[in-house]
Amino acid sequence: MKRLLQVNDRGIYCERADVYIDPWQPVQRALITHAHSDHARRGNGQYLCHHDTAPILTLRLGTDIRIQRVSYGEPIQINGVTFSFHPAGHILGSAQIRVAYKGEIWVVTGDYKLLNDGLSQPYEPVVCHHLITESTFGLPVYAFKSPFAVYKEIKDWWRENQQAGVNTVLLCYALGKAQSILNQLREETDVPILLHGAVANVNGALAARGYHFPGQWMETEPVTKAPKGALILAPPSALGSPWMRRMGNYRVALCSGWMQLRGARRRRGVDKGFVLSDHCDFRQLNEAIDLTGAEHIYVTHGYESQFTRWVREERGLPAEIMNTLYEDMELEEL
Ligand SMILES: [Zn+2]
Ligand SMILES: [Zn+2]
Repeated sequence: MKRLLQVNDRGIYCERADVYIDPWQPVQRALITHAHSDHARRGNGQYLCHHDTAPILTLRLGTDIRIQRVSYGEPIQINGVTFSFHPAGHILGSAQIRVAYKGEIWVVTGDYKLLNDGLSQPYEPVVCHHLITESTFGLPVYAFKSPFAVYKEIKDWWRENQQAGVNTVLLCYALGKAQSILNQLREETDVPILLHGAVANVNGALAARGYHFPGQWMETEPVTKAPKGALILAPPSALGSPWMRRMGNYRVALCSGWMQLRGARRRRGVDKGFVLSDHCDFRQLNEAIDLTGAEHIYVTHGYESQFTRWVREERGLPAEIMNTLYEDMELEEL
């Protein structure tokens, strides 16, 4: 029997509705979980996504793409199949996609996390029979604390650096983490917050949806130096680039789930690591399985073989690897 959703060479396919979810090859109709570049690629005939995802798609893929916008929970009928988008808690606009046909329910998580970051619409469990889940941090060693505890660590470190007379550079994903950090810095008005162009562009696009964040774009021209005590947000790729020379004396930190591993910080050549992730850790992945009541688990990008084995052997649920072309984007650029 054909499954309601299966992977082919273009993406996660629903044959009955003839649509794809987060395809990696161009297709006629694409349902997009969120705007990160491994999930939302160019060349599709039509894009269906949440309202908050749309301006980022336009920023990245051009204003000439065709987009149909949906709200969370709004049902869309396509050839008898019902699709709906539900908060994934990953970044602004991120969604899990629920697919229902004749009483059978599938959920594609996209990227997601259960911890509230204070900005993204918090994750809502969606009850289903079949759950397709990511597994970026699907090993027990990954155990993330609340983002709010990490925001405090970041602020404290910034104060420390100010007292030492050095600037603070935070490297984080330009779409997602940058905004959730900036959202916590609204009260910090005494010292300037400066933004790399990649972050400023995303903020500019989100303004169309009524989201406004502190921080000034640090333009490439004229070449000026960051004032003392400043906080600068940039994507990880900025490290080692000429742009960094304008930071004067600075300390640099990387914000990523990977910072949990000893050695990762040293390998990346940064002074400090903040364990801040927009993905589920091991406990959250397991909790999601409990909350959805799913009976069949399909594991995509991340530690798929380890997590599949865990679900099968330790949880006694049928689980299999679903091979997709999504990547770990935690350390990448927009
Ligand atoms: Zn993502
Ligand atoms: Zn992903």
